[in-house]
This record gives sequence, C-alpha cells and structure tokens, in this order.
Amino acid sequence: MIISIVSGKGGTGKTTVAVNLALSLKNIQILDCDVEEPNAHLFLKPRIKEEVKASIPVPEVDEAKCNYCGKCREVCAYHAIAVLSGNNGKKGSVLIFPHLCHGCGACSLLCHEGAIKEVNKEIGVVEIGEKDHLQFVDGRLNVGEAMSPPLIRQVKRYINPTRTVIIDAPPGTSCPVITAVKGSDFCVLVTEPTPFGLNDLILAVEVLRKLKIPFGVIINRCDIGDGKVESYCKQEDIPILMKIPFSREIAVSYSEGVPIVKKDGSYQDKFINLYLNICGIKNEADSSY
Ligand code: SF4
Ligand code: SF4
Repeated sequence: MIISIVSGKGGTGKTTVAVNLALSLKNIQILDCDVEEPNAHLFLKPRIKEEVKASIPVPEVDEAKCNYCGKCREVCAYHAIAVLSGNNGKKGSVLIFPHLCHGCGACSLLCHEGAIKEVNKEIGVVEIGEKDHLQFVDGRLNVGEAMSPPLIRQVKRYINPTRTVIIDAPPGTSCPVITAVKGSDFCVLVTEPTPFGLNDLILAVEVLRKLKIPFGVIINRCDIGDGKVESYCKQEDIPILMKIPFSREIAVSYSEGVPIVKKDGSYQDKFINLYLNICGIKNEADSSY
C-alpha cells in the first residue's frame, strides 16, 4: 500500500506525520518527495548508501539542419522553445529555455529535419539509504532549478512494492503534489484549525477528489484556532483520522530533530491506530467500487 502525506500549505506538520508513522510500523519504505526542501532525513538520520544523479533530456538544436519551420515551438506545451524565422536574407534562430523544459521529448520527435538532439541536464540527486529496518529515499533538487516533477518521478522509481510505502509529498496543490501522490492508495491530509488551514484544505480536497484517491484528515495543533475545519470535514463527510495537540513536548522534540514516537511511546500506539484506520477506510472504499 502507498500512503501519501499531503498538506495544502507548508508548515502544518506533514513531515512530522510521515516520519512518526514510518517509525511506528514495520516493513516500511519512506520516500521524501518534497524535493525542493527535503527534511525527513533530519529526523530519521539515515545512512545514505547510494547517490544517483538525476537529469532530464533537454533539446539542443543543430542550426545547420534547421529550416526554422517552428514545429518544435508549436508542440512545446511549456513554452520552452522560441523560433525566429529569418527574413530579408537574415538567418533565423531557435532559442531553448532549459529551465522551462520538462524533458518530454516531443520537439525532437516532431522535428522532420533531425535538427534536435537531446542532451542531459542535471537537475538534482536521488539519495537511497536506510535507518535500521526502514528503507529511505529522497530527492534533492539543485538550487535554482524549477522543474521538480521529473525529480519526483525519479524518486518514485525506487518504490518497493513489497513494503508499505509512505510518501512525504510537497506542500500545495500544484504539479509537484499531483506527481507525488499519483498512484497512491490513500492520502493523509494534514491541516491546522485556522482560516489559512481551512482554505488550503478545501483546495487539496478538490484535487484528491479529482484524482479519485481516498483520503482522511489529521488536524495538527488541534487546540488552537477555531472549529471550522472540523465542521467542514463533517459537512463533506471526510474522516478525521487523528488530532494532534499543540504541545510543548512535541515542539521541543521537533526542534531537537527527534521524532515524538522516540520520546513518548504512547504516540506509537496512536500512529499504529492511524494506520489501522487508514486500512479500514481503504478497504471500505475498495468494496464500494
Ligand atoms: S522543428 Fe526542427 S527544423 Fe523546425 S524549427 Fe524546430 S529545430 Fe528547426
Ligand atoms: S522536450 Fe518537451 S518540454 Fe522540453 S522543449 Fe521539447 S517539447 Fe518542450
């Protein structure tokens, strides 16, 4: 089973949930797909056994073969190519914007002149490691690199189907999150009971409903803010899987980089119950199809 931990915005405690859930269960693999700011390693302190450079193929144009037909520009959905056709005896030009390129390969496929070849552009690194019996994989996007989805896909190539996989997804509701959660059996949405938390929760719920992935909510710092997140979940028939209090003990543990299950054993039972709850909801969702 693949369980993704998601939040509509950063700073809600998504990684805390991912790490503590991973440490509470057996036969687990954790994937940190928050590649712009991976931090699960700070709490797990895994031994990294392998680092694999991640790259995407970007086009390079041989202008000696190019007739400036503009087909590559037309096919590029990401506006990563500009073609200036020459006139009045002036030579044309093809400009490639590698930071916009998703490495889809469509331009080289459609260039009838064979003027485009692909060259690898390094975007980051995938780290593979372990902590005791826990398998660990994360991705680190190079500073200044904009394209996180290709790196997230490369991290997900290491999914071990013989284990329960926990994915720490990037925050938000855009392409990187969708890339991270695609193929998940269940999503845990971590939020907080504030107006911002509610706003971003609603957006994340819309995304997961479109993707048809079953999900439930964890309310972190549940004793601050107001009751609107709970009312929303009730009204939308969304299960509240767990409530985590606003506690000094958790905050201190977090600031020390120590997962709360390592300090307070009662939390391990809570995270095991969370997993059992997820399995129950998932089975119910499967049987209703
Ligand atoms: S499709 Fe090929 S020939 Fe046409 S403009 Fe692009 S690189 Fe040049
Ligand atoms: S590989 Fe895809 S995204 Fe990159 S420039 Fe070509 S068509 Fe655009």
